[in-house]
Amino acid sequence: MTFIDLRDRYGITQLAFNMDGRAVLCGKARALGREYVLKATGIVIERSSKNLKIPTGEIEILVEEFDVLNESKIPPFTIEDNTDGGEEQRMKYRYLDLRRNVIKKNIELRHKMSVETRNYMNAQGFIEVETPCLIKSTPEGARDFVVPSRMNAGEFYALPQSPQTFKQLLMVAGYDRYYQIVRCFRDEDLRSDRQPEFTQIDCEMSFVTKEDILNTFEGLAKYLFKNVRGIEVNDFPRISYADAMKYYGSDKPDIRFEMKFVELKSSGSSPHLGGLEGGNSPFEGGKGDVIDLTSGKNFKVFDDAELVVGICASGCGEYSRKQLDELTEFMKRPQIGATGLVYVKCNNDGTFKSSVDKFYNEEYLKKWAATFQAKPGDLILILAGNTEKTRKALCELRIEMGNRLGLRNPDIFAPLWVTDFPLLEWDEETHRFYAKHHPFTSPKPEDIPLLETNPAAARANAYDLVINGVEIGGGSIRIHKKDLQKKMLKTLGFTDEEAQSQFGFLMNAFEYGAPPHGGIAFGFDRWCAVFGGSESIRDYIAFPKNNAGRDIMIDSPSAISQQQLDELNIRLAPGNKK
Ligand code: ASP
Repeated sequence: MTFIDLRDRYGITQLAFNMDGRAVLCGKARALGREYVLKATGIVIERSSKNLKIPTGEIEILVEEFDVLNESKIPPFTIEDNTDGGEEQRMKYRYLDLRRNVIKKNIELRHKMSVETRNYMNAQGFIEVETPCLIKSTPEGARDFVVPSRMNAGEFYALPQSPQTFKQLLMVAGYDRYYQIVRCFRDEDLRSDRQPEFTQIDCEMSFVTKEDILNTFEGLAKYLFKNVRGIEVNDFPRISYADAMKYYGSDKPDIRFEMKFVELKSSGSSPHLGGLEGGNSPFEGGKGDVIDLTSGKNFKVFDDAELVVGICASGCGEYSRKQLDELTEFMKRPQIGATGLVYVKCNNDGTFKSSVDKFYNEEYLKKWAATFQAKPGDLILILAGNTEKTRKALCELRIEMGNRLGLRNPDIFAPLWVTDFPLLEWDEETHRFYAKHHPFTSPKPEDIPLLETNPAAARANAYDLVINGVEIGGGSIRIHKKDLQKKMLKTLGFTDEEAQSQFGFLMNAFEYGAPPHGGIAFGFDRWCAVFGGSESIRDYIAFPKNNAGRDIMIDSPSAISQQQLDELNIRLAPGNKK
């Protein structure tokens, strides 16, 4: 007998060739190579040795006739779940990579996500409206990709970073429930969860409050959890930005596990609010009590620190010297940049062992342990320094401990809303405010006066959806009045003329009966990846680009001809000719 695994989109079917009586056919079958395209006719029979792991494992086809429809070169890597192909090869031969089951499943998941998204949105009375790709800059915090205009020499279109202004114009036009599964373009440095072009589920509604939006889109998320992943999820918790920073050191906390930050020393103010260091914050959550359980014992690192904060790793009290050194090294890597890591081991006999027990006696350590609600057998890990940096670093440590303790299971989902972001972010380099979300986001009504007096303290009427430590979406209630929009742009450093030339179209529209409105957009590729249990969005995009923004399969970007350049009125700087 000779057997061939015949693969198509739906799986594998075994072809069987019997030497008895069909020796010629059998010989022909033996000469076939991998990835040949076949057409076979025969009789479906029950297999003598069954493979119950695959749906077609109980049958085979006893072939009577077959044709080779096309031959194949030997593929550069094996078309199997665990392929021997490296990233580069897989991208170059993406059409072969897409044949692999694991990738095919991702692409199917993506399809299911878009079908179910449309089902939900349509049932809620939203209509899908397309918006243009050749537009003028929409600021979303990245660089624009630009397209030269042949018919308007010296002028450029920008590709949309999102359809933000268009969806707002649709609200002015009276289309009170809009959505679009839409491509967006941002020219920024790439990481595994970023692509220069990516897809959003973009949504906008009129006559709504933040509450309406959170409910509608929590509904979408629950619907997708149920219909795509088969999971019922509870109501999503909500946390303010200030609390997210205080307890998790991140505005996208992974709350699959607790391990919240506990402060041993803090000044009570949060420097995150408005991005200004040391500013007094109007945010309730960020405004912790002033506490100090560390000063006065001559331990300079803590005495000099603005914040002393730690986490309690349950059951890690028996970590060895080596394990602790490893963690310290992990924290000292340049990506994190901590100068050291203090530990307190809570021994099973109720005593403590700490790297700072020269400075802090048993009584102190006991008080710390009580603050952390640590039990015998637990390990407390503490960092100290500038508030913002220390929180960021401790966030990395928390995630690392979560990984080590197996608390970040990709099959468990913990969604939440993060709300009340600062409206603005101060940039030290350019010495100006940037919109934390985008310039069309409305301040909370009670914070509007702060735009005049203390812009850094103004909170935005904005919200993010976070799942398992990944920002899945974000949005806001928008400004819908010209005056406030003007004031906002002025706060961002635009002169009246600049504001008018860049955003006049929107502000003018606000003068023709613009309804109050708000919306949200979800990163579709990311959401697919999170549902698929992966950190990389590339495996959920049929034809992604690599880290350098290149499509190495089609070899793009690439040079264009002199004639094309001439038509576009473009002259390249010397040295940039290819
Ligand atoms: N346009 C925003 C973004 O792309 C989303 C929104 O505010 O609706 O992040």
